[in-house]
Amino acid sequence: MLRQIALRACPTWLENKLTSMYFRAKGIGFSGRSHSLSATVDHFNMKVQILPALQDNYMYLIIDEATKEAAIVDPVDPDAVITAVEENNVKLTKVLTTHHHWDHAGGNAKLSKSFANLVIYGGDDRIEAINHKITHNDTFNIGNLSVKCLSTPCHTRGHICYYIAGGREGEREYPPSVFTGDTLFAGGCGRFFEGTADQMYKALVEILGSLPEETNVYCGHEYTANNLKFGLHVEPENVAIKQKIDLVHTQRDKNLPTVPSTIKEEKLTNPFMRVHESSVMKHAQQNNPVQTMSYLRREKDNFKA
Ligand SMILES: [Zn+2]
Repeated sequence: MLRQIALRACPTWLENKLTSMYFRAKGIGFSGRSHSLSATVDHFNMKVQILPALQDNYMYLIIDEATKEAAIVDPVDPDAVITAVEENNVKLTKVLTTHHHWDHAGGNAKLSKSFANLVIYGGDDRIEAINHKITHNDTFNIGNLSVKCLSTPCHTRGHICYYIAGGREGEREYPPSVFTGDTLFAGGCGRFFEGTADQMYKALVEILGSLPEETNVYCGHEYTANNLKFGLHVEPENVAIKQKIDLVHTQRDKNLPTVPSTIKEEKLTNPFMRVHESSVMKHAQQNNPVQTMSYLRREKDNFKA
């Protein structure tokens, strides 16, 4: 709470410094072991290496298989990124920053010193070392992969999700992927630091909710287990949540990441994407999805898993 109040009144450099200290402090007492194993997911024309960072953050190395051009999402730990780039023998050309918070953007400047002409994308002037500001529906490529920027303000004013088309071979279309930062988590959503329930409703239900259901969801933190506990509190009868809790326990016992999720899974298990469901509105004692969103966020802020 103190941190939130302090951050609201701070200039950006001090905000970043404070957030940096906060994450370092949180890391003390942590065994030094990474929170999850690194894992690689092979998609049709794209490889995603999931790189754990800090206490529960994820960075993602996106590789275009055809050209071996690569981009990194939220490279807070530049040394780990450099190692992954070398191991995969790829050419890193782009940084996809979801938002300006230190645990996502705090490695941008250091990384840009190791790679010449690195293009650093983001939707907010407060993002460290940003050199290419983007806005809703802007597009660019990583090699042959096409990226579309989705503006999802609420957690921060300038938050961007990055949608990457799945590619096609003849008639067959392959599932796309979306990198959602601190807007959509598996089973949850980010705090409303700079926005309203109405904005989060637009982001989760109207923008991300209208992506193809098979879209892979790569989010910014490993919060899934706790999020699902809250989901089951909201909907004790939801079988999909119960099944996913079992799956996530198995994954976390082996220290495996619980990403990627899919838009379909989120529509079945994430209370913040289910605010129009009667069971969720009933729990919130509301009859309107946006008010339900507002209620759930307040309840989750104080929920002890
Ligand atoms: Zn954040």
